Amino acid sequence: MRAVVIENPGDVRVADITEPSAGEGEVLVRVHTCGVCGTDVHIYKGEYLGQYPVIPGHEFAGEVAEVGAGVEDFERGDRVAVEPNISCGKCRFCRLNEQNFCENWQAIGVTLPGAMAEYVAVPASAAFRIGELRFETAAFMEPLSCVLHGMEKLDLRYGETVLGIGAGPVGMLLAQVARDSGAARIVMADRVESRLELARELVADNTVDTGGGFGPATELMPGGYDAVIEATGAPAVVEQTIGLARQGGRILLFGVVPREAVARIKPFDIFRKGLHIYSSYTSVRNSVQALELLRSGRVEVSRLVSHRLPLEKFEQAVKLLDNPQGAMKIQMATS
Ligand SMILES: [Zn+2]
Ligand SMILES: [Zn+2]
Repeated sequence: MRAVVIENPGDVRVADITEPSAGEGEVLVRVHTCGVCGTDVHIYKGEYLGQYPVIPGHEFAGEVAEVGAGVEDFERGDRVAVEPNISCGKCRFCRLNEQNFCENWQAIGVTLPGAMAEYVAVPASAAFRIGELRFETAAFMEPLSCVLHGMEKLDLRYGETVLGIGAGPVGMLLAQVARDSGAARIVMADRVESRLELARELVADNTVDTGGGFGPATELMPGGYDAVIEATGAPAVVEQTIGLARQGGRILLFGVVPREAVARIKPFDIFRKGLHIYSSYTSVRNSVQALELLRSGRVEVSRLVSHRLPLEKFEQAVKLLDNPQGAMKIQMATS
């Protein structure tokens, strides 16, 4: 089968490799669509702990092609999306329902062969039936799960004002979930005008271009926002969030900042404003919720997809993602 293989950081090829088969308790999925995510870019660049070679790809949907021994709840032809984070179910964190911190964590497309390939074998417990949902839509199950985990921590209340910084695909998912959680006003900030335009069409009441700083965002809400959602991962933006939240406000740091990055904040401001600051690391088991929302149509994802590329174009996808003007969500079409 064809698969994207990252041999070493920066060294990638589409290889012809032996097709995997479904082991005990597994199903073999014929991948239809796999989203490209910042994590894939980090793996490609060697900014992620993990062993090489690796087949990337963890945001995917496809069809069950083979059922392993002991699997009774799936059959050939079932349409599924897959939860890539595999937790052991036995360690202290799993028993606390904090599977994202599992001590024996594995992830399809990170520590296990991923879905930028024609086939991938996955534990049956990680597969979710998607029914008639389009594969391109169901491939958003994983990123939306992460968004739901973060938004559950932020715990929005009805009628709140929300500033969403970063109008990329994930920023758009966060804002849509915020709206559905009862936000009264959603302001979205970005530096790319085409993204702001889409934000206004999909979800934002107002948008601000932050190319010249955050002044316009403050002008819209002089007392500060009830909730500020950071979805850029830029340390300089993280620094701004403290000033943009209201007294007693809440901040969700969702964007992944570079591993060695440092931000300068004044702890006194956090104290004086009585801020609540949350982070969000991957997801727990939020896939059922994500699928229901995707089925409901209340979270729009098809307009977030800017490119559909064949596996051979993986490097082009990475380049497009490095340039924020270049792309929103890129999906690899594997079959
Ligand atoms: Zn991802
Ligand atoms: Zn565990």
